[in-house]
Amino acid sequence: MDAKFVAKEERDWRPAPAPETSSLATLKNAAKTCTACHLFRHATQTVFGEGAKGAKLMLLGEQPGDQEDLAGKPFVGPAGKILDRALEEAGIDRGEVYVTNTVKHFKWEPRGKRRIHKKPNSREIAACRPWLEAELRVVRPGLLVCLGATAAQAVFGPTFRVTRERGKVLKSEIAPKIVATVHPSSLLRQPDEESREREYKLFVADLRVAVKAL
Ligand code: SF4
Repeated sequence: MDAKFVAKEERDWRPAPAPETSSLATLKNAAKTCTACHLFRHATQTVFGEGAKGAKLMLLGEQPGDQEDLAGKPFVGPAGKILDRALEEAGIDRGEVYVTNTVKHFKWEPRGKRRIHKKPNSREIAACRPWLEAELRVVRPGLLVCLGATAAQAVFGPTFRVTRERGKVLKSEIAPKIVATVHPSSLLRQPDEESREREYKLFVADLRVAVKAL
């Protein structure tokens, strides 16, 4: 692809046109046709949040991955499976949680035949923010769990460090209580079984802090 074209395409964004509504279905439907940033061009579909209006707990990830992009559902890939296991261990029923992402389209780059995850940048996060704000307005969770740096920095700003602040009950204007922790995909990237297990336990401990704070 032409580098200049990509740069222009990426520079061209506006805030997503989230409608004023109290209906999650209306929001989800409107997001299907969102073209506020260039990410819709190379993804299969918008992956909107899932869960009940009025869920007490909202989980916020970074963006859909390869499998989520194909399925149109958040956290159904390998990271989602770890999340499901950890939620269960922390005593959280995924069916009662609202799960979403900071950015609703899969950003990727080709590597051979594979689509490799690419971190969304500040323009893409800003473009997508109205969808997240609308979800928060409608769901009104008592507690938001930020999964990973992209989600946490979208809430607290770019200087926020998950490694320093994880597992604490924090406050922000966008939700009464917030707990930041790692993204479950980081557990998949651990170099060996021992560190994977250690990080998994820390992840579950952070989720338990969220349950306790609810
Ligand atoms: S990533 Fe968000 S803002 Fe960009 S096109 Fe998709 S839904 Fe719209």
